[in-house]
Amino acid sequence: TQEIECRNVFFRYHQNGSASYALEDINIVIPANKMTAFVGRSGAGKSTLIDLLMGLNQPEKGQVLLDGVPLTNENLFSLRRAISYVPQDPFLFNASIRENLKLVVPDTTEEQIWEALDFSSAAEFVRNLPQGLDTLIGDRGIRLSGGERQRIVLARAILRNPSILVLDEATSALDTENEAKIQQAIDRLKGRMTIVVIAHRLSTIRNADQVVVLDQGSIIQKGEFGQLA
Ligand code: ADP
Ligand code: ADP
Repeated sequence: TQEIECRNVFFRYHQNGSASYALEDINIVIPANKMTAFVGRSGAGKSTLIDLLMGLNQPEKGQVLLDGVPLTNENLFSLRRAISYVPQDPFLFNASIRENLKLVVPDTTEEQIWEALDFSSAAEFVRNLPQGLDTLIGDRGIRLSGGERQRIVLARAILRNPSILVLDEATSALDTENEAKIQQAIDRLKGRMTIVVIAHRLSTIRNADQVVVLDQGSIIQKGEFGQLA
């Protein structure tokens, strides 16, 4: 279980020769086993910050720390292993649901699969499919709704048994019912792993322990959802 911290972090993209910072003096602690949400308009720096937190980029100045220890090549590996990342547009193979889950985590028992599906609010609809876990999805199988796909991908992320789960706009393309299902899943996972979400709808982050509002590369607000102005 791991806490991630940014200390005086600055980051600039150099492609365009720009002098402006995508992130400027970011200080934030992401506590273990809590849910932290990042919000802010497009271009605020959310993705840039998440990339730094996941060790995909390095700050130009400042430090990213993992359990109080600065990220180095050694603990970068353990950070990557500890993280499951769920993108906005999740990828599923043209295969059965079971294969989609097992391809990423081969040594998984039937019981673990159903547990993960339960956690991601997917167990019920999978159980009701004509061939259950063996139902083919994708081009030669059935079409899943966006919410169903997202819940299968979430189950796959959970099966990796991460200590940090990053959901990148995972509900922004979903309707309110599916969004609520993902939220229930997050509520069940809170306390078992560190959850980081990027969101642009406030409805998604009501259950966040910490909401971080970014604007033009800076943190302009930080607190519990109810305290936000
Ligand atoms: P958000 O995720 O909140 O939409 P980003 O982190 O993607 O914000 O972007 C922060 C700033 O960095 C923006 O000004 C954006 O244009 C810029 N930026 C993002 N990615 C790149 C990149 N690969 N090259 C150059 N500039 C980038
Ligand atoms: P998209 O349809 O969002 O563009 P991609 O083309 O990236 O998705 O597809 C990624 C994988 O997910 C492919 O194997 C595709 O067959 C499968 N896939 C795409 N849409 C669905 C869906 N609605 N239900 C099940 N599988 C899908």
